[in-house]
Amino acid sequence: MRHLITGGAGFIGSHLAEHLVSGGDEVFVIDDLSTGRVEHLRSLRDHPRFTLATQPLLSGGLLRERAEWADCIHHLAAVVGIRRRLQNPLEALRVNLRGTAAVLDAAGEGGTRVLLASTGEVYGKSAARLLTEEEDLVLGPTTRGSWGFAASRILDELEALAWHEERRLPVTVVRLFNTTGPRQRALHGGVLPTFVRQAIAGEPLTVHGNGAQVRTFACVREVVACWDRLAATPQSVGEVYNLGSDDEVSIRDLATLVTEVVRSSSTIETVPHAAVYPAGYEEAPRRVPSLTKLEGEIGLRPVAPIRRIVEGLVAHERQRVEA
Ligand code: UDP
Repeated sequence: MRHLITGGAGFIGSHLAEHLVSGGDEVFVIDDLSTGRVEHLRSLRDHPRFTLATQPLLSGGLLRERAEWADCIHHLAAVVGIRRRLQNPLEALRVNLRGTAAVLDAAGEGGTRVLLASTGEVYGKSAARLLTEEEDLVLGPTTRGSWGFAASRILDELEALAWHEERRLPVTVVRLFNTTGPRQRALHGGVLPTFVRQAIAGEPLTVHGNGAQVRTFACVREVVACWDRLAATPQSVGEVYNLGSDDEVSIRDLATLVTEVVRSSSTIETVPHAAVYPAGYEEAPRRVPSLTKLEGEIGLRPVAPIRRIVEGLVAHERQRVEA
């Protein structure tokens, strides 16, 4: 099989590229290196079944050419990290809306299979205990620009599903929840790499708000294995799936767990939301996916418990710091 991965030099995209190449497939990556890095693909550099093109997705005719070449397009290119998105809301919107439209148009020419990476953020401030794919999506007003990322992803999903509905394009929408593992960088503001870095450095762990907000964290290797299985499942065409872990943890408990695993003397500090986010920023108090649909379809879901994930991250970060 031939795969085109947009954003394939990023955290999740590079793991997917490795997974597909090691399974015997051919992979072509387009990445503008805005947040992706060539080093992420070091293990594949000279591999005969792997090619990396470092250029913007929308420049020239490469996207169309490679969409025609590919059996499957994995659209993962997006503006990563809460800080960058809040600082560059226009860029985040344009990358989502224009990038996805271009990928779908290119795929539409030859009827190429597409997996679109969406996000668990589309559920917004839904109060549901377990988020099923049929849950209402609850966003705030447009005057709070921080909802733009979720809103643009909702439009991307609708556009992909319309391509399927009207033109029978074989698309699948995958809502990724917090995913973690090697190569995810603290730089982008993700909570786990941030806490691990802080605990190893002996700095205070910065819990935003009261830390009661609940999240789940999935191991990237398990996530890409499920993603690949969805791509290979014809019944997933025209459908939307949550993909993540359902092992829930509050951010305060996560901070305590990280200090325990690191055996760090770091303190845990509470930082008010107003000190780190723009005025009016609202965050989901709880975001836990139902994985019933995913598991029912592919017989697989991420299962690594949070403690094991933290232990793996700490070991990896220690090696990186010492290297
Ligand atoms: N968070 C935190 N301290 C940090 C970074 C993040 O307490 O240094 C919180 C953040 O406010 C959110 C949760 O951790 O409630 C997860 O944040 P992240 O940006 O990793 O992902 P999100 O689930 O918000 O997309």
